[in-house]
This record gives sequence, structure tokens and C-alpha cells, in this order.
Amino acid sequence: RSKELGRNSFQMYKASMNARSLERLSMQSRFQSALENGEFELYFQPLKCLASGRVMSLECLLRWQDPNLGMISPGQFIPLAEELGLIVKLDEWVIDRACAQLATWYQQGCEVRRLAINVSAQHLTQGDLVNTLKSALEKYDVMGRQIELELTESCFVGNFQKAKKVLGELKDLGISIALDDFGTGYSALSYLTKLPIDILKIDPSFIAKIPDEYGNSEVVSAIIAMAKALKLYVVAEGVEKPEQMQFLQKLGCHAMQGYLYCKPLSQAAWARFYQAEKLTS
Ligand code: C2E
Ligand code: MG
Ligand code: MG
Ligand code: MG
Repeated sequence: RSKELGRNSFQMYKASMNARSLERLSMQSRFQSALENGEFELYFQPLKCLASGRVMSLECLLRWQDPNLGMISPGQFIPLAEELGLIVKLDEWVIDRACAQLATWYQQGCEVRRLAINVSAQHLTQGDLVNTLKSALEKYDVMGRQIELELTESCFVGNFQKAKKVLGELKDLGISIALDDFGTGYSALSYLTKLPIDILKIDPSFIAKIPDEYGNSEVVSAIIAMAKALKLYVVAEGVEKPEQMQFLQKLGCHAMQGYLYCKPLSQAAWARFYQAEKLTS
């Protein structure tokens, strides 16, 4: 009964408040407790090398399992965490867990060459990305070359000198740098030559329209040719159909990621996938 009353007054309260500020308020406190209660979990999506057919690396994708709401997608909570100033804390948690996971896999004899971690643009100016990584590498005895950081162009806009310095320091640790969602941002191509970028990830919105849509396929093939000319490693994201994979393979795209090969997996599901892959390769 009292619970019901509570719910009623909550409804009234909710009605009197603007939905957005209510969301902000409740999300902020729920974020904190979610971190403390272990509601966040890393999923892993393998990237397939198109030449060898083998797993090239895994991307860490954050999942939030809320006890009441179920799975909340990062597309929803990452922008909110950024807005609430909680993203650096969350990214730091991911970095710690990712390095711990690499150490565990090593002990289990599971060879994961590289783990890719997404980092928010805010993390380049706030927080101390370089020292966070340095400590995590030391703590779990992981090598820098086992880590790849995925950044978007928004990291560099209005922030170029600082970004350049931070990326240089990350490179000194042996970490590789991927430019995520390529083609959707400002696409200022000078970033590709002025910053120490190793990997280009073509945004799924381009891949979705190949090979049929004229214009789009030309853009994708130009991106791949440019990346190769610049000696960048190029990855196609969001590959869902065999025709897309064949098209990418013909153009010499290095790797692909998408549901066609494998969806993001829990740690246990990845262990099964790894065993199955090992048996067939
Ligand atoms: P992203 O880094 O570009 O990650 C790729 C997204 O595409 C993932 O969505 C993945 O599940 C999804 N995806 C993979 N294959 C396919 C496919 O074949 N088709 C389609 N339609 N989608 C596919 P997810 O996991 O929902 O993550 C969304 C975004 O949230 C990520 O985009 C990334 O920007 C951000 N994110 C995820 N985890 C983290 C994290 O730990 N830290 C930060 N800062 N951001 C994160
Ligand atoms: Mg990414
Ligand atoms: Mg992204
Ligand atoms: Mg992406």
C-alpha cells in the first residue's frame, strides 16, 4: 500500500517536472550506484581480418544491466554520462576492466592480440588518460601494444594541440590509435596526417548502402584507397551481409566488424566463440 502511495506521488512529481530534468536527476544517482553495484559489464566484439580470416582484435563495448529496466544501451547512457560529467570515471572503469581481462585471458591461454577501448572526447581534456593507461598496464602486466584506443573526430576539434600531445604520449606507451565512425564527423582529412593515427574505422552508415547504392560504394572505395595510401589499417564497421563483405574484400579492406561475423559477446560467450574458431582455423 505504501509502495502504491509512493508510486502515485511519484507520478505527480513526475508530471510537475520536465521529463528531461527528472531523467538527469535520477540517472545521476543511478549511475553512481550502478558502478558500485557492478551493473556495468564489458561485452566483446571480434574484428575479423579479411586476408587471414582470423580474429584480429576485440572491441570492448559497455553494457548496463539495470535490475529494473534491463539492458540499457550505450547509445543512451554514454551521452548522458558525458552531459553529467561522469564519463571519465566510466571510461577509467572500462580501462581497468579491459586490462584485467587481458591478464585473465593470458593466464587462460586465450590469445587476444589486441583489445580496443572506446574513449570519450571529454577524456582528452579532462582526466588523465595517459596516466590512467600507464597505471592499468603496470597493474595487470599488460603491454601497450595490446591496447587500441578508439577516438572520434570530435576529440580533436578545438583541441588539436592537446590531442596531439596526448596521442603522442599514448603512442610512446605502444598503444595504437583508431579513428572511429570515420566519415560522419567533420572529416577534416588533415587529422589523418597530422596526428599519429593507425587505424580508420569506416562508419556503418556507409557500409549499410554498399554495394548497390551508386555514389556510396565509390566513397567507400575511395576511403579504403586513401587509408591504404596513408599506410593506415582500415576496418569496415556494421557489416551485415555477405555481399558487403565480398565488396570490401575485393577492395582490399583489412578487417571487418559486424553481425555477419559476430555480434558483441559476453565474456562467457566469447570463450565459446574462441574455442570454436580455434578448432576451425
Ligand atoms: P562504436 O564504438 O562505433 O561501436 C560500434 C557499435 O556498432 C556498437 O554499438 C556495436 O554493437 C554496433 N554494431 C556492431 N556490429 C553491428 C552491425 O553489424 N550492425 C549494426 N547495426 N550495429 C553493429 P553499441 O555497443 O550499442 O555502442 C554504441 C556506441 O557507444 C559505440 O559506438 C561507442 O561510441 C559507445 N561506447 C560503447 N562502449 C563504450 C565505452 O566503454 N566507453 C565509451 N566512451 N563509449 C562507448
Ligand atoms: Mg568504437
Ligand atoms: Mg563511436
Ligand atoms: Mg564506430
